[in-house]
Amino acid sequence: MVKINIYYLYPDHLNLYGDRGNIIALCRRAGWHGLPFNLVSVHPGDRINFAKCDLLFMGSGQEYEQKMAVNALKERRDALLEAVERGMVILAIGGSYQLLGRYYTTVRGVRLPGLDILDLHTEAGRKRMIGNIVIRSALWDPPRTLVGFENHAGRTHLGPSVKPLGEVIHGHGNNGADKTEGAVYNNVIGTYLHGALLPKNPWLTDYLLQKAIAYRSQQFAFKSLDESMELQAHRAAIQLTRSPWHKLRSSRF
Ligand code: GLN
Repeated sequence: MVKINIYYLYPDHLNLYGDRGNIIALCRRAGWHGLPFNLVSVHPGDRINFAKCDLLFMGSGQEYEQKMAVNALKERRDALLEAVERGMVILAIGGSYQLLGRYYTTVRGVRLPGLDILDLHTEAGRKRMIGNIVIRSALWDPPRTLVGFENHAGRTHLGPSVKPLGEVIHGHGNNGADKTEGAVYNNVIGTYLHGALLPKNPWLTDYLLQKAIAYRSQQFAFKSLDESMELQAHRAAIQLTRSPWHKLRSSRF
């Protein structure tokens, strides 16, 4: 019988700006599709067996939590990289996205080493990048929009081994300069989109679940679900970024 194992990393520490809504969306949508799954919460000090994990969710955290997470994971870094190379699915938000890279330099100039899983690095700037964000992602053909909320000091710069998750239509994105947002490597997705991300972007939820099913070479037919409420929320988020007030407020950056 098809079943996937969803691992929720450090739920008590990595959860900024509604990130735990992503785990709720993954579990609810798997249930609506009739896809059996296990949800495993992983706490600092737990030994993670990545061989059993199909989909790892990492919420966001500030510098203290980022340091804690790297220290707790660093001895498992090679096992994590092996799982990533095999195709294990990861969704990493904000600070977790940053810590999968080579390093994160804080606004005080302190360099926090990352897990060096993704070819990217992050340098914090003085002004935080805050606001609603809309990107266009080529994960799909034709591309689809993804909406969320960003709040980060980090400016993330991608290396040649990763692709951006999308192109910024409205907002700051990775660094407020190169119009990229997020990073994709194999089945790993890192992004600054909080909100939570998945409830307003059900196609990304299904994308992650389908990749987790395929990771175990399993077959499973998804149902055609009523997405009217999610679409309404998605469109409202896009509409919000088009309001004159929003343009004025976000232009102050
Ligand atoms: N501390 C990181 C930053 O400010 C993470 C922020 C976030 O996760 N949104 O860039």
